[in-house]
Amino acid sequence: MSDGPRSALADRLAAVDARIADAAAAAGRSPDELVRIVVTKFQPVAMIAELAGLGVRDVGESRHQEAQAKAAELDALPLTWHFVGQLQSKKARQAARYASVVHSVDRASLVDALAGAERRIGCFVQLDLTGEPGRGGVDADEALRLADRVAGEERLDLLGVMAVAPREGDPRRAFATLRDLSDRVRAGHPGAVSISAGMSGDFADAIAAGATHLRLGVSITGPRPADG
Ligand SMILES: *Cc1c(COP(=O)(O)O)cnc(C)c1O
Repeated sequence: MSDGPRSALADRLAAVDARIADAAAAAGRSPDELVRIVVTKFQPVAMIAELAGLGVRDVGESRHQEAQAKAAELDALPLTWHFVGQLQSKKARQAARYASVVHSVDRASLVDALAGAERRIGCFVQLDLTGEPGRGGVDADEALRLADRVAGEERLDLLGVMAVAPREGDPRRAFATLRDLSDRVRAGHPGAVSISAGMSGDFADAIAAGATHLRLGVSITGPRPADG
């Protein structure tokens, strides 16, 4: 896929990677500490295949049925699928067949369901910083309880904490709150060092606040065909 002029997708990917490197340097961090997940919800499988051809290894999806179909179609590609949207407990076992990491753990029943999956799953506990219904997440105290519950499951790896910054307001405040929760989780679970934060509009702030897993959609993919 490297023949001919570089595609618009390749250009955007390179541009975002350069901005990630700049933000990491400004924060005194190495870009090697960061996992850049390309969120491909609503995008066609052809784009995901092209991304894989450009070296992308981590992709994110937020709707189970769509993700399941795409992962099945692209099974031959060396991709790691991250589930970043709200997940019903009754779909968790199915999601665990293709998703290696679930960023949106926000219920005990979901922990229990994932723990019953056929393979190990990496888990982020999602903190709600938006107060917006439908975006998932729990408050800090509940997040700590869920972290304990994940850590207690042999088949689950507690990776850390995740949040979406509110649409309004300063994302730095939101990321500082998430960082606080991360510190509290790590006090009990020293291995849970990861922080999933930062989207197209705020990833530089997230990197400054210690994010390790960036979830980037439109800045790399371009606009989503249909946003729902
Ligand atoms: C869609 C989505 C993203 C990516 O958002 P962009 O603004 O397109 O970068 C990240 N995280 C979650 C949970 C999402 O649903």
